[in-house]
Amino acid sequence: MTLLDELKAAREKGVAIGHFNFSDLSVLYGVATAARAQNVPVIVGVSEDERAYTGVYEAAALVKAIAARYNQRLYINADHTHIFEDAIAAAKAGFDSVVYDRSDLPLQKNIEETSRAVRELKAINPDIYVEGEIGNIGSGSEVHETVPENLDLSTVEEALEFVRATGVDGLAPAVGNMHGILHSMAEGKERKHLNLQRIAEIAKAVQMPMTLHGGSDTDENDLRAAIKEGITIVHISTEIRLIWRKALEAQMSVYKNEIAPHKLFKPVQDAITAAVESKLRIFTFSK
Ligand SMILES: [Zn+2]
Repeated sequence: MTLLDELKAAREKGVAIGHFNFSDLSVLYGVATAARAQNVPVIVGVSEDERAYTGVYEAAALVKAIAARYNQRLYINADHTHIFEDAIAAAKAGFDSVVYDRSDLPLQKNIEETSRAVRELKAINPDIYVEGEIGNIGSGSEVHETVPENLDLSTVEEALEFVRATGVDGLAPAVGNMHGILHSMAEGKERKHLNLQRIAEIAKAVQMPMTLHGGSDTDENDLRAAIKEGITIVHISTEIRLIWRKALEAQMSVYKNEIAPHKLFKPVQDAITAAVESKLRIFTFSK
């Protein structure tokens, strides 16, 4: 089954597939374990920065090894790829999907660059799932001091023009979502809200899988409604990074003399599994 087939099946069921970034084993194993426990497909992502650390081939090989070992529907995505050569490298390494993100460019230039990527990536692997991005939702899976500048809302017209001209398999629009979270969210005082009407309008127009980036700390009812309206992939990264850090700090402070990484990291992995399971329960809540 290709990722595109998975996404079509998810849409028919009215559910979404979770996407979680990793750059170490505790997170990768934690995510894979959670998806196995719920018997659902899951996507793990490595951004350009994360790939610089994990290695492109190494990350793909690890994910494929886990998928084969457990006969698990586990997919690997080259998240937020801005450099053409890096997208090609990911396709050659066997990635199932590439998010080719030139949303920093004006729409016409974004269309040109994304069209070229779609063409060249499909020449390497016709089944590779290519996602394009429009609009500005900020960058950085981290805790921000203030709301990033110039966040915008994608229009139905630009979404339609973009998908028709580029031939992408899926679209990531700006619909009230934002990368990273605010301090008030980290403290649990506030949640993100989405523009559900715009999601519905764009989904109806483009008729293809749509991705919500920056899904961390989004209001749960908004998430469920967004999935009902047509969001088929939800990216969660910042929340997982925060849990990773907190769990690791807790381990370090309790076991002050422990020096074996596997002993310190197993409980960190378990914390990730628990967090991912609770997200997957939201995403697979059926209509
Ligand atoms: Zn993203």
